Parts: sequence; C-alpha cells; structure tokens
Amino acid sequence: MDNWSIPSIDMERCTGCGLCVEYCPTKAVTMVHQQPVIHEPRLCTYCGLCEDSCPEDAITLLFEIVPRPPANQA
Ligand code: SF4
Ligand code: SF4
Repeated sequence: MDNWSIPSIDMERCTGCGLCVEYCPTKAVTMVHQQPVIHEPRLCTYCGLCEDSCPEDAITLLFEIVPRPPANQA
C-alpha cells in the first residue's frame, strides 16, 4: 500500500483510545506518544477494521475495495 492511499486519521477527532491498533490484523498501525500512526503502510491490506472500530469516526479509508464480478456478469 502506498503512502498516498493509507487510511487517513483525523487527529482533531482522535482521543487516543487505541482501539484501531487493537483491531488492525497486520500491525500496520501503532501508538506513538498516545497517537495512532500508520508506521508500516506496506502492511496495510485496506481491510477497513480500523475505520470500523474507531468510536470517534476519526479514520477514513480514502477508497473502497470491492470484489470484481465474474467476467460473464460484467
Ligand atoms: S485498513 Fe486494516 S490493515 Fe490497514 S491500518 Fe486499518 S486495520 Fe490495519
Ligand atoms: S480508534 Fe479512533 S479514537 Fe481510538 S486511537 Fe484509533 S483513531 Fe484514535
């Protein structure tokens, strides 16, 4: 995952609860000085669990990954 496409964290809304770090299955996000940081962007699979887990709606995935339908249904 490139830096430009990693989930966006709004630090104005973030309370530093750490839930996004707990839910991230790849450890792409970690807490640094009580703030979440995507420190390993290449590990981000864009699963969206951090966005879903955030009680403050502080995390936004900049795009959505959707399955492509089979060719005969396109
Ligand atoms: S989208 Fe998934 S892999 Fe990427 S930082 Fe959030 S929880 Fe981790
Ligand atoms: S879950 Fe939301 S409020 Fe909690 S640390 Fe992560 S971004 Fe901040």
